[in-house]
Amino acid sequence: MTAAISANNKTKQLKVDIVIFGGGIAGLWLLDRLRQAGYQTLLLENESLGAGQTRFSQGIIHGGTKYALTGKLTASSESIFAMPQIWRDCLQGKGEVDLSSATVLSEYQYMWSTPGLLSRLSGFFASRIVRGRMLTVRKNDYPAVFKNKKFKGKVYQLDEPVLDAGSVIKVLAKPNMNHIMHIKSVTNFSENEFCVEAANSEVWNITSEKIILSAGKGNADLLKQMGRTVPEMQLRPLQMVMVRGGLPEKLYAHCLGANVNPRITITSSEDKQGNIVWYLGGQLAEEGIHRTEEEQINKAKKELQSLMPWLNFPEMQWATLNISRAEPKQKEGQRPSTSFYYEENNVITTWPTKLALAPNLANDVLKQLEKQNVTKSGATEMPEFSHAPIADLPWQEEEKW
Ligand SMILES: Cc1cc2nc3c(=O)[nH]c(=O)nc-3n(C[C@H](O)[C@H](O)[C@H](O)COP(=O)(O)OP(=O)(O)OC[C@H]3O[C@@H](n4cnc5c(N)ncnc54)[C@H](O)[C@@H]3O)c2cc1C
Repeated sequence: MTAAISANNKTKQLKVDIVIFGGGIAGLWLLDRLRQAGYQTLLLENESLGAGQTRFSQGIIHGGTKYALTGKLTASSESIFAMPQIWRDCLQGKGEVDLSSATVLSEYQYMWSTPGLLSRLSGFFASRIVRGRMLTVRKNDYPAVFKNKKFKGKVYQLDEPVLDAGSVIKVLAKPNMNHIMHIKSVTNFSENEFCVEAANSEVWNITSEKIILSAGKGNADLLKQMGRTVPEMQLRPLQMVMVRGGLPEKLYAHCLGANVNPRITITSSEDKQGNIVWYLGGQLAEEGIHRTEEEQINKAKKELQSLMPWLNFPEMQWATLNISRAEPKQKEGQRPSTSFYYEENNVITTWPTKLALAPNLANDVLKQLEKQNVTKSGATEMPEFSHAPIADLPWQEEEKW
């Protein structure tokens, strides 16, 4: 590409305060916050907005109940407790970003337990984290799926809204579209400067004071291209399951399992024809990576039949999705409990580790930039360039079924 640049000498120049790589939740949240703060910011996306983990996400804005289950509460993991309220403020149009046009799929996430499990979880229900965040639901108010005489467990309501991640991406991208460039490739990284080939084949030489990597799994390649070996990344693969056809209603619920991970986490959406789709994660998806697609579907069928034997699952259509979580490397591949950023020589590498923690990550990065007095060039116009499209959600892509 470099040869081509100098041969036809058509390279365009662009100088901004900050460049962000990656238009998932982390990059788009940051773009909006940084622009509001007065930084002239450009986001580069090499596929489509939301194309990485974000569009596969179950959209749950976790409030930390899981940490009560694991008992692994640290000062840093406490940051997650504030997330549902921060997101709710944004959804009401009075928060740090305006999500008032995003779609809330459910105001609450439910949790249900099987009878044998309750006694073993008394410590969990008594814990300070759970108090006030989790309500026991009265039988009359159960989601319809659990209003059956055969259901012997209990249902709890968690203070955790569930969002349509695709709508969040759209709403965050809309006011910032002129600052999002669709690129094919990037080359010639040197300190604060590099070249990109845009989707329309234009070549841009870009200079910026800071580079932020928010490219999820793509961070590893970008770091390598820059000749950096830290921070290291880990991938935690999942085999998620989708099911549609004859489902009774939309459901947003974790089933408490025998260990700290939910045995299954069900969220719901619609396919392109408007059919209800259940999206199944939790332990089923984590353990599912060792199964073939057929084995995983059989396991999911058995799980639903054993947890909801009163339901008749007539002619359901099943499919699986393989996707990995991209995170900073942890000891023994454990799951990180908070968002992550690391700065070295003007490059900030980020992983939110959860959709819910994107606001936390943006706050940390903003504090860092303020501390270093990074230039704020304000609202200068961007030149014309090709803009990145928005990714479809997996259950809306017919070929995935
Ligand atoms: C199945 C699943 C379910 C989940 N459910 C939840 C949940 O319910 N709640 C929750 O809080 N979290 C959830 N998570 C975690 C959450 O989805 C992720 O932590 C979050 O989406 C990560 O966002 P990101 O912006 O860092 O990365 P990504 O969403 O992966 O986005 C990275 C972006 O960078 C782009 N990119 C990659 N390489 C380059 C490059 N070289 N140049 C330019 N652009 C590049 C990609 O195309 C992509 O658009 C879930 C994750 C998975 C996988």
